[in-house]
Amino acid sequence: MIPSGLTALIYLVSASLFILGLKKLGHPDTAPRGNQLSALGMLLAIAVTLFNQDIVSFWVIIAGVFVGSAAGLWMARAVKMTAMPQMVALLNGFGGGASVLVGGAEFLKADLLGTQLPVDTDITIQLSLLIGAVTFTGSIIAFAKLQELMTGKPITYPLQKVMSSLILVGILALAVYQVITPGAQLESFYIIIGVSLVLGVLFVIPIGGADMPVVIALLNSYSGIAAAMTGFVINNSVLIIAGALVGSSGIILTTIMCKAMNRSLGNVLFSAFGSVTAIGPGKGAEDRTVRSITVEDAALQLAYARLVIVVPGYGLAVAQAQHQVRELADLIEKKGGEVKYAIHPVAGRMPGHMNVLLAEANVPYDKLYDMDQINDEFPRADVALVIGANDVVNPAARSDTASPIYGMPILDVDEAQSIIVMKRSMNPGFAGIQNELFFHPKNSMLFGDAKASLTGLVNEVKSL
Ligand code: NDP
Repeated sequence: MIPSGLTALIYLVSASLFILGLKKLGHPDTAPRGNQLSALGMLLAIAVTLFNQDIVSFWVIIAGVFVGSAAGLWMARAVKMTAMPQMVALLNGFGGGASVLVGGAEFLKADLLGTQLPVDTDITIQLSLLIGAVTFTGSIIAFAKLQELMTGKPITYPLQKVMSSLILVGILALAVYQVITPGAQLESFYIIIGVSLVLGVLFVIPIGGADMPVVIALLNSYSGIAAAMTGFVINNSVLIIAGALVGSSGIILTTIMCKAMNRSLGNVLFSAFGSVTAIGPGKGAEDRTVRSITVEDAALQLAYARLVIVVPGYGLAVAQAQHQVRELADLIEKKGGEVKYAIHPVAGRMPGHMNVLLAEANVPYDKLYDMDQINDEFPRADVALVIGANDVVNPAARSDTASPIYGMPILDVDEAQSIIVMKRSMNPGFAGIQNELFFHPKNSMLFGDAKASLTGLVNEVKSL
């Protein structure tokens, strides 16, 4: 057993490591160190908690650590980069579920022992149950939508907002009743959990698959808030601090993503984005022609360009062609050209997806430019090379008020001298809508898997 003063001190050290780790995550160069520091903080927190024997038996916790670590290790290795959002959704759900279990256990313990919970503990228990349960089922639905286990389209019904609001008010009323009534009320305890679980489902089903990243960031924040509440329940300072950090960083991420799409959070949550009928593959293209280009012609353009701006998107991650992009860029630079990468904040399937992908191929970080930094440079670019990106370069976001992505800031590739789009077909991207860029007079389509096409381009440019 460690003296309580020492426990508090070690908790403070691990909380500081979390904060330092988060700060270092802000830059790709320092991010690996940030991860290690946070992991060390977590190890310290778990180890100290282990020695506080008033929880459960030492062996139960050791077994939990082993089972949890094995499952985490398996997930980290087996889950593909492109399926990361689903995994994060699932992990958020586990966090919410854990808060319900811990808060619920404390409530039931008080009931069993016949003790009266202090008001502040009771309030935080009710909040753990409500937020944790909403996070749990909301995250499971987000996971199912992204994993395509259920439709990604918004499921709407009449008076949806009113019904959800009434349910929330009902839960809060029951929670207040629970707190002000002496003794534990088992019926309302179970009703609060059950109805909160239903509220989580109702909260996420009206939101379209294309908005899931924002929802996941928000649920991430909820899971942090629920954990912080649970920290108050069991009087554990490191859980309060870690929960608050997750809660606030989740909100910041949510805001950044909403800003990147030029939409308010209310619009994301309640506008049923994606319920419009999507233009199916190739539809709308029937009476218009797109110009396709051969690998040889594309290689010629790239080899003699002074500035090439590469626009990576989700298809690059699917094709796992990051190393070939780097190789091509090196060749262009050897021939005297300049290569820059334009990174849209929601390109791919998770925040920072493209940065991580390109870092894996050792693309220098100073060649990566955010949307605001690079958009002015497109008119100067001889070629905008769009690799597996679609929605993030769709000009409809700028001009078509009827488009579901209207208002989302995009990369202005249509301003470049010429455009080459690399993808396999005329299929739409994540938002399910056709892209006017493909019909632009300056655009040529290089059809095929990105990895195969890039390998072809590398060989061609080499031979020029
Ligand atoms: P999109 O999803 O709009 O388009 C990707 C394109 O890649 C498809 O049109 C597909 O066309 C092509 N593609 C797929 N596989 C390959 C391959 N092997 N080789 C070549 N091309 C391929 O991607 P964007 O990055 O432009 O946009 C991201 C979208 O995802 C946005 O709508 C965003 O809101 C959403 N989103 C973003 C998240 C984030 O946090 N970053 C998270 C979740 C969603 P084809 O089939 O013809 O090859």
